[in-house]
Amino acid sequence: MSLDKNTRNNLLFQLGEIIPYEYLYTSEEDLKPYECDGLSAYQKLPIAVVLPDTIEQIQSIVRICSKLKIPIVARGAGTGLSGGALPHEGGIILGLSRFNQILEIDTKKQMARVQPGVRNLAITEAARPFGLYYAPDPSSQIACSIGGNVAENAGGVHCLKYGLTVHNVQQVTIVTIDGEIITLGSQTLDTLGLDLLALITGSEGMLGIIVEIIVKLLPKPEKVSVLMASFDKVEDAGNAVAKIIAEGIIPAGLEMMDKPAIHAAEDFAKANYPLDAEAILLCELDGDKQQLNEQIAIVETTLRKANAANVVIANSSEEQARLWAGRKSAFPAVGRISPDYYCMDGTIPRKQIAYVLKRISELSKQHGLRVANVFHAGDGNLHPLILYDANIPGELEVTEKFGADILELCVEVGGTITGEHGVGHEKIDQMCIQFSPQELSQFFAVKHAFDPDSLLNPGKAIPTLHRCAELGGMHVHNGELPHPDIPRF
Ligand SMILES: Cc1cc2nc3c(=O)[nH]c(=O)nc-3n(C[C@H](O)[C@H](O)[C@H](O)COP(=O)(O)OP(=O)(O)OC[C@H]3O[C@@H](n4cnc5c(N)ncnc54)[C@H](O)[C@@H]3O)c2cc1C
Repeated sequence: MSLDKNTRNNLLFQLGEIIPYEYLYTSEEDLKPYECDGLSAYQKLPIAVVLPDTIEQIQSIVRICSKLKIPIVARGAGTGLSGGALPHEGGIILGLSRFNQILEIDTKKQMARVQPGVRNLAITEAARPFGLYYAPDPSSQIACSIGGNVAENAGGVHCLKYGLTVHNVQQVTIVTIDGEIITLGSQTLDTLGLDLLALITGSEGMLGIIVEIIVKLLPKPEKVSVLMASFDKVEDAGNAVAKIIAEGIIPAGLEMMDKPAIHAAEDFAKANYPLDAEAILLCELDGDKQQLNEQIAIVETTLRKANAANVVIANSSEEQARLWAGRKSAFPAVGRISPDYYCMDGTIPRKQIAYVLKRISELSKQHGLRVANVFHAGDGNLHPLILYDANIPGELEVTEKFGADILELCVEVGGTITGEHGVGHEKIDQMCIQFSPQELSQFFAVKHAFDPDSLLNPGKAIPTLHRCAELGGMHVHNGELPHPDIPRF
């Protein structure tokens, strides 16, 4: 959908009235860096990119777009992996990168009040001198923004024990599509009324523009230890995950990597990973000294009983940092061994890990594409990285089919089509498999209540019922769609 010339000129004129020239991009050269997010397989140029730095400017931008019916795609750092910040060709990108201030650290309440463009890691860096930290730690934490984390309900290594973004956010302020400011949540334990804070967390820029966030800070644990177990069989490593949790231990992090991921990460980060292993598990434990020693003993025994070929315990912070460096850099490391990779994100019950990894390996042979697995095993949150070459005609399409098969497999074993990367543009079709028309209708109703004209990130996250019908995910009787009363976007 492209914009007619008059509306385009009118839009740019009005935006130019409120945003200084140097923060309003319209030339192809300036728009290019915004054509995609971390899922670079899909690209589009927006009409304009605006980079406001006050909430009043955001209110004005939203009001202009609302009046002219121009789609708005909010963008944090653009590290998203599901095309959530993919531009709309008839709309604008509203970049939040200049909202990069930590406004307050309250050590008594153990909270930080931050702007949405603040980098995830910057919060922990600012809280560290007070013995505090922000727990959710996506592997992209050096770059991704807290606004993007809230919009995606981001996870990370430490979310197994300390919860996802939704469990670590206290209050969020948004600008609505009418340009009004509303604050959701509170600084107390419980909040009256409907839990709209949970609703906005993970809403993928579709319900409002997040302009301020209060996050919880946690005291740093007294002691930390990291165990690395290597396995000769991927299945044994997968089964060990459920066995550790069944012992009543919730590790601070429990991550798994298979052979291709181990080799790529070792080559890149020199983490001292065993190159002869078929899979490794990294298990971080924390607590006071006595608790920790007990947990280490139980986990080590469990790993050995689960056929671990070797278990290494890293107690010094240097050794631990080295082990984690390999895991945290695994995605870019895999990027070096293939022209392109496609990162999938699905969640399955932990006990299914071994079975699903076996099936992924079979699918890899069937589609003729290599795959590297590196993922949040404790959460059952898989990240198969499908290796492909976008320059080979048809290979992206095969990759997409392989990815769709993996997501359907996740649903088949009782899991979900996304763990932490969101639905965005990428997984919109699989939403028709995951949810019934009745459930999708409720999503539409919520979207409609916040954004009646569907201007906030349209075409993402919730498929139209028409789209599901075309994909065969919905029963259409006599050419009539179910729920005719529900607005179609
Ligand atoms: C190497 C790598 C590793 C990764 N590892 C992880 C991981 O371990 N865990 C994980 O969860 N994710 C991970 N990701 C994915 C990504 O970093 C997260 O989804 C992150 O939360 C996106 O933040 P961002 O600031 O880059 O958001 P963007 O990509 O800019 O946007 C993401 C979505 O949020 C919306 N949005 C952004 N800011 C706002 C706002 N202020 N108001 C309203 N909507 C907004 C956008 O419209 C879009 O829908 C990884 C990505 C990479 C590249």
